Amino acid sequence: MSISEAPKFIVDLNVGRLARWMRMMGYDTLLFDHGEDYRMIRIALDQARIIITRDTRIMERRVITSGRLRAVLVNGDRPEEQMRQVIEHLHLDSDFRPLSLCLECNQPLVERGKEEVVDRVPPYIFQTQEQFVECPVCQRVYWKGTHWQAMTRKLRGFVQGQSGGSVDGKAEQAR
Ligand SMILES: [Zn+2]
Repeated sequence: MSISEAPKFIVDLNVGRLARWMRMMGYDTLLFDHGEDYRMIRIALDQARIIITRDTRIMERRVITSGRLRAVLVNGDRPEEQMRQVIEHLHLDSDFRPLSLCLECNQPLVERGKEEVVDRVPPYIFQTQEQFVECPVCQRVYWKGTHWQAMTRKLRGFVQGQSGGSVDGKAEQAR
């Protein structure tokens, strides 16, 4: 799936924790964290985004039942279970791009040389990691640490139709 044809998403506040997971997979994902439903629908239409929600009333709207706007209904309380549903529903494959988007800002991350982050990551991380990326907006620095590995392993498990274990949904990061 190339970047240009990758789907974009808007995540309803009632499943807001999925925004970070979708960004972890490299999907451009907005979090709709306030306002009336119609505003979320307007944004989705204007920006060609797929809605992810657990609100069944949204699914009954004509704009969605008619197929004009795509939406994914998830249920359950656990983000990992919801994420598995999204992946299954959309038939997302394992060709995702972790560490391409900031998990907090949805901004494309920029590669940084080690010397550029020397004062901004823990010494042990500096010594053991070679690849660093930075968010140009919030200045968070990311690397492929153990949390990152757990999260991507979990995602690949979902894609392969497996599940089990748990992860706290956080990639390692430092300001
Ligand atoms: Zn950021």
